[in-house]
Amino acid sequence: MTTSRTGTPSVLDELRRNLERLKLRAIAAHLDEALEQATKLEQGYIAFLAGLIEVEVLAKAEASTKRRMSLAKFPAIKTLDTFDWTFQKGLNVQLVKDLMNLQFIDQARPVLLLGRPGTGKTHISISYGVLAAQRGYTVRFYKASVLLADLYATLADSSTDRFIARLARFDLLIIDDLRHVPVRPEYATLLFDLVEARHLKKSTLVSSNLSVKAWGDILGNPALTASLVDRLMERAHVINVRRGRSYRAQGPDASEERPPELDAEEGAD
Ligand code: ADP
Ligand code: MG
Repeated sequence: MTTSRTGTPSVLDELRRNLERLKLRAIAAHLDEALEQATKLEQGYIAFLAGLIEVEVLAKAEASTKRRMSLAKFPAIKTLDTFDWTFQKGLNVQLVKDLMNLQFIDQARPVLLLGRPGTGKTHISISYGVLAAQRGYTVRFYKASVLLADLYATLADSSTDRFIARLARFDLLIIDDLRHVPVRPEYATLLFDLVEARHLKKSTLVSSNLSVKAWGDILGNPALTASLVDRLMERAHVINVRRGRSYRAQGPDASEERPPELDAEEGAD
């Protein structure tokens, strides 16, 4: 047991028990080392206490970032550090970079990412999501087809309102890859209710390989989908790479034999 001018064994034991009660585990873990350092450096009380508290603050911040990252359910971790800004000629690079300040989340503005498969939509979306989680925002990444299936499943046990209320709380909701799926008549209403619940309150990012005009076909209710699109387009930032080329098919790792026409995409007009 360490004894020092800072405390007798029983005081130290009590201190450890209290640190445990208060869940100040980083302080508890660093206590011996900090006491030793303080003695060696003849540190003042304030510097000693400030150093220990900082250790706890940093540990707690790291733990909550980790929690938010896991809550977000990203399918992979991507950042814009690895993004090749020169690859996509039609990309509004300035806008993509500007959005990295994440003001759109504070302003609850939607972001639409429209473009052919492989043009980097998911990469960009995850990058914003990761930045947001690191900066303290709650984020949820959802593949659109899975979101629609999960929304639909809530109809069976009448948990739709609860589910939507839960999704409405995330600071950033990413709905990735809205594309043709087998349509169920309920999809449009379910997605509309979700978008409505977040409208002007929280930011929603939607990516799609289809133009917004075609979303009515995906969701099966053009009139309601038009209202949904209205809400998403209002104050939205639109990143449009619909004429872009696929990084998968034409990027540095693409196989040479791959015919360029594999890149052609339905409805990405
Ligand atoms: P999309 O969602 O538009 O279909 P992805 O974001 O999944 O496209 O991109 C396909 C692959 O190519 C991913 O592995 C992604 O990281 C990579 N990629 C796309 N665009 C770029 C880019 N400009 N720089 C670096 N990697 C990119
Ligand atoms: Mg994608």
